[in-house]
Amino acid sequence: MRVTIEREECIACGACMQDCPEVFEEDDEGISQVVEDYRVDDNLAVGEIPDDLEDCAETGADVCPVEIIHVGS
Ligand code: SF4
Repeated sequence: MRVTIEREECIACGACMQDCPEVFEEDDEGISQVVEDYRVDDNLAVGEIPDDLEDCAETGADVCPVEIIHVGS
């Protein structure tokens, strides 16, 4: 399952990483990035996550106040 974060629009609120730290973490400036294990081509904004983390990632997307997290195949 593909996860993308429009990092340039992130306001560093921390909600996604609080609700789904298995997929999202903060960089040095508090901006959300995909955890290293699931990054695609070392891209901080794109991940490929296992199916059992889909609900977690969806929760992160749902709590994002600026709706910049996208979860889909
Ligand atoms: S919830 Fe959205 S705005 Fe907040 S840190 Fe995560 S990606 Fe950024």
